[in-house]
Amino acid sequence: MPKKKLPRILEEYCIGCSHCVMACTPKTLKMVDGKAKIVNATVCDSEGRCVAACPVGAIPLLEDKEY
Ligand code: SF4
Repeated sequence: MPKKKLPRILEEYCIGCSHCVMACTPKTLKMVDGKAKIVNATVCDSEGRCVAACPVGAIPLLEDKEY
């Protein structure tokens, strides 16, 4: 499995505002049951727009993950 920097989404802090989904131009993220989820990791460009967009720090960093 390949590895790349992907967002870590802390569901317990997510308030469901969708800001990260709107900021993600590659469309890596989607709202699922009111929480942000990675739905298409292969298109993530690891630019961290979601990290910057989250108002509550629910995406604290990008981390190396297999996808
Ligand atoms: S920006 Fe943060 S709080 Fe808003 S949906 Fe994304 S992870 Fe959740």
